[in-house]
Amino acid sequence: MIPMSQNCITVWNNCLRIIRQHVGEQSFETWFKPIKPVKLADSILTIQVPSQFFYEWLEEHYVQILRKAIHVELGKKGRLQYSIVVDKGNPSQQPFTINIPNKQAQTPQTGALRLPDNKKTPVTEEKHNPFVIKPIKPNARKSNLNERYTFNNFIEGGCNKVARSAGVAVAQKPGITAFNPFLVYGGVGLGKTHLVQAIGNEILRQAPQKFVLYVPSDTFITQFVEALRTRRMQDFTNYYLQADVLIIDDIQFLGGKERTQENFFHIFNHLHQLDKQIIMTSDCPPKQLQGLQDRLLSRFKWGLTTDVYVPTYPTRLTIIKNKVESEGIQMSQSVIEYIARNVDTNVRELEGVVISLIAKSSLIRQEINMELVDSVMSSIVSDSKKFEQRTLNASHIQEVIIRYFSLKEQDLMSKSRKKDISIARQMAMYFCQEYTDLSLKNIGKIFGNRDHTTVIHAVRTVKSKINSELGYKETINQIKRELKVL
Ligand code: ADP
Ligand code: MG
Repeated sequence: MIPMSQNCITVWNNCLRIIRQHVGEQSFETWFKPIKPVKLADSILTIQVPSQFFYEWLEEHYVQILRKAIHVELGKKGRLQYSIVVDKGNPSQQPFTINIPNKQAQTPQTGALRLPDNKKTPVTEEKHNPFVIKPIKPNARKSNLNERYTFNNFIEGGCNKVARSAGVAVAQKPGITAFNPFLVYGGVGLGKTHLVQAIGNEILRQAPQKFVLYVPSDTFITQFVEALRTRRMQDFTNYYLQADVLIIDDIQFLGGKERTQENFFHIFNHLHQLDKQIIMTSDCPPKQLQGLQDRLLSRFKWGLTTDVYVPTYPTRLTIIKNKVESEGIQMSQSVIEYIARNVDTNVRELEGVVISLIAKSSLIRQEINMELVDSVMSSIVSDSKKFEQRTLNASHIQEVIIRYFSLKEQDLMSKSRKKDISIARQMAMYFCQEYTDLSLKNIGKIFGNRDHTTVIHAVRTVKSKINSELGYKETINQIKRELKVL
């Protein structure tokens, strides 16, 4: 008797012979060579594929030819099952896999595929292969990294502990940890750019030959539009496809840019499939990213999403001390504590105050005393409050309202007419109208695709209640304080 493993290898090799006649050489190499047959039992052939994406691609593009081949080899009862490698393991450990039946025509008893009689169904033709790469010269590669951002000067605190340690792990083993893609989100000035650039710099320090590519997403959009205009799309995509590590900062700007997203989606899939590391940042959690396609958002779940938030007092102290030390200047402990206590918005402002203090004190040749600190802080911090007032973002407003009223995340978008939810929703719309640049139409969209007239009604209701109900006005003021606009 032929051993079972031998048997599955033979059957798969026969299948490959059939498949080869129907797909191009490049596709065969890319999509069928990496597949390993692992088991044949009860007419179910299990094949191991390197990733979830790989499996989806096969299902989307080659399901017919796979069926046909299995059918020829195993007869009508033949079925196919995928074993997807989730974790590659190491030399002493087997890879960890999950089994999924071929999606279509699933049979309830076993979950495996029963092959339909599909002799007449045409075999899928290759229409488009985005995976042809023209190598570029190493000196044409630009990482765009700023060497100033390192792990050494990225102070750890509760506010960034998870993000930082995951970042260190990614930097040690880019592409092969479970953190791929790696997405860091959080408010402005909280260290997202610093952290992701530190990962890039560390990877380059360990492996200078790697192509680490950092790009803010608005630059990516500009390049894309320029490539469209000058008909150099192939060059543009080709460049990004070569990255060993792609860092894309502030992906919220991709919102609503359909064609750019489409292109990014292909680049993302290609790099991910080749185990290249993808790192992203955004100013809000993925589910609040507006105008991003679901298929892109669902890819983010493959890896790790984590947040950074405002540092607590002890972390702020350490950040200031570190900054002061690295600038090589003296500052008294009481001044440092005073700044740490009072600047509780974000790290960028904390740094702004310190740098401005240093500059002023050397300019006017004056010791850094409390008076000087006050004058610097009042200019920077009050400026920032004015700044925030103009540029609050909708997701921040939603977060604050959800927390204030102890709601569930989806409540504000839901159709629920429960009194407390309606009140909260109206207030959230009011704050969006008052403190963001969003149009009424877009505010409606954010809150569960409502009409702009609903938003107008909400804003009017809130304004009239502020003037007529004392308790209501106090609630609004409390929320304003939370939003730091009062
Ligand atoms: P974001 O990208 O989240 O808006 P940045 O990464 O630009 O924020 O950070 C703003 C400034 O604060 C930068 O100069 C950065 O070096 C500094 N910074 C932020 N977080 C830290 C930290 N944990 N330790 C030291 N510096 C930090
Ligand atoms: Mg940034």
